[in-house]
Order: sequence, then C-alpha cells, then structure tokens
Amino acid sequence: MTQLFSGKEVSTSVYESLVPRIQALKSKGITPGLAAILVGEDPASKVYVRSKTRKFTSLDLFTETIRLDAEISQNELVLEIRNVNADDRFHGILVQLPLPKHIDEDKIIKVIDPVKDVDGFHPENVGYLTVGNPRFIPCTPKGIMRILSHYDVDLSGKHVVIIGRSNIVGRPVSILTSLKKSFSNATTTICHSGTKDIRFFTKQADIIIVAMGVPNFLDKSYIKPGVVLIDVGINRVEDDSERGYTLVGDIDRKSVTDIASGLTPVPGGVGPMTIAMLVENTVEAAALQSGISLD
Ligand code: NAP
Repeated sequence: MTQLFSGKEVSTSVYESLVPRIQALKSKGITPGLAAILVGEDPASKVYVRSKTRKFTSLDLFTETIRLDAEISQNELVLEIRNVNADDRFHGILVQLPLPKHIDEDKIIKVIDPVKDVDGFHPENVGYLTVGNPRFIPCTPKGIMRILSHYDVDLSGKHVVIIGRSNIVGRPVSILTSLKKSFSNATTTICHSGTKDIRFFTKQADIIIVAMGVPNFLDKSYIKPGVVLIDVGINRVEDDSERGYTLVGDIDRKSVTDIASGLTPVPGGVGPMTIAMLVENTVEAAALQSGISLD
C-alpha cells in the first residue's frame, strides 16, 4: 500500500505551531507583514498570490498586494521594490514569478532587501543555504523537507534523486538533502533535460523528488518498489470538466500506487506546504528584524 503524505495535514500543524509565535510578536506590537508584488495578469500567478495572501489574512497577519502593469519598466519595478524595502509594515517581500519577458528576474531578485527575502531567492540567502547555515530557505524545498520529516522519512545514507534543477525547487532542495545535518545527509543526484538516461538514476533511488512541470511524467517504469515519491509539479491539463482543466502533478499517481511506499498527492501535497513555509519565513523575518527570539 502507498501512504499518502498530506501536505494539508502537515501545514495545519505548522499553522498551529505558529500561533504562539505570532502572539509573542503581537504582544510586542509587531504584526508580521508581507508585501506581494504581482506584475501583469497571468491567471496562475493571480491564483497563487490570492491563496498566499488569504492565508495571511486568515491568521490576522498584515498583507498587501501591489498590482503592477505588465508593461512596467525594469527601473520602475526596481523603485517599487525599494519602496517596499523601506516600508516597516512589511517584514517579507514576495515578487511573484515569472515576471514579464522584458524584465530581468535575476536583477530584480537582487534588489529585494535580503532580510525581507522570505522566498530565499536572493544570492545572499542562497549563499547562506549553500554553506549549511540558512537564513531563509526557499518555501517549496523547505516544505518538502518538512513533509519528509513529518512522515519520518530518514534521508541519512539514502539516495535522493531530484528531477529538475530550477533555482526555485530542484537546486535548493538538492542542497538541503545533501547537507551534513541530521535531517538530511543523503547522497543526492540531480537529473535534468541534459540527463541521458533518467531511469538509470531513478531506478536506484530511495526517494525521488520530481519538479519538472511535465504532466504525469514519472510512471512505474522509473521506480523501484518501496520508493518515496515527492510530486512538486502543478500542471493544468485541459478537459471537459466545468473548470475546463484538471490539476495534475509530474507523477502518474495511478501507475505508481502500490509500488511506492509513500507519495504526495496533487493537489494537497507540496502546494499547501509552500504557503505554510512562506508564512513561517515571514514570521521569522519579523522576529529577525525586531531582534526578538521566538525559541
Ligand atoms: P522550471 O523552472 O521550468 O524547471 C523545470 C526543470 O525540469 C528544469 O531543470 C528542466 O531541465 C527540467 N525538465 C523539464 N522537462 C524535462 C524532461 N523532459 N526531462 C528532464 N528534465 C526536464 O520549473 P520549476 O519552477 O522548478 O517548477 C517545476 C514544477 O513544479 C512546475 O509544474 C511548477 O508549476 C511546480 N511548482 C510547484 C510548486 C508548489 O508549491 N507545489 C512550487 C513551485 C513550482 P533544464 O534545466 O535542463 O531545462
């Protein structure tokens, strides 16, 4: 039988653990605040920003969405971010990606104040993570690690294979799983579009993390019995349903069921954890900027 690893369930326990920390900050007059910067009208980005900011509101945290025109220039966007950097109401800044093609994402990420970079994408925070002393861990990789630890999946000495090397998911999660720390210490392989024979690696894997954006890519032909599967993909597949599409992951769930020992579903797996980790990082950013210890 394949155990379903519920990100919904794990995220609920994260929110419960955040309540006393939020109260401790509020008792000192600090309400953790997030600025969400949304450029353009991309429907998926709008949905993501709405679900993230809704969560902040439901926890009585402060949040504001700064909506900017898709035609905004690079310089104007830089000025908007500098304004938010200087605004004390915001402890965290989220620039929803992807940005329109004419904007240089790497340059924009570098403009975010690193102590407000709750997505953990600023090179300064990537550096801290890489040397094993993280300040803000990117939300999706952090959520994946939290799911694994919640379900007692011990990584030490195991072989983790990651498919995908983006700066948002694949690369940072590969750093986390390979750190010399009690919660990781795994042998880690990264596969990508240049990998000649992905099956050669995945067939040996104890844990596979798939972050490709290719619907139902990983089926039973890629895995060995007992493997743990983490499905990061969120893909809209058009169909005849009322919505016009169904959300599916990068893993063919039907095919791997009863072969894998554990699996994150889509939806309800990694997705809810990404939001929970954004809230957690923002609460931690508020504590850091106020010099308050929450532990
Ligand atoms: P991305 O930036 O497009 O990166 C995709 C990665 O997969 C790249 O490294 C690419 O290789 C690799 N890849 C794509 N097709 C491949 C193939 N056929 N064979 C081997 N490697 C392949 O995507 P991302 O931002 O990491 O996101 C990945 C997926 O996760 C998407 O579906 C996204 O919507 C989802 N996502 C979910 C969450 C969540 O909260 N659940 C958060 C973030 C992203 P190259 O580097 O060689 O191009």
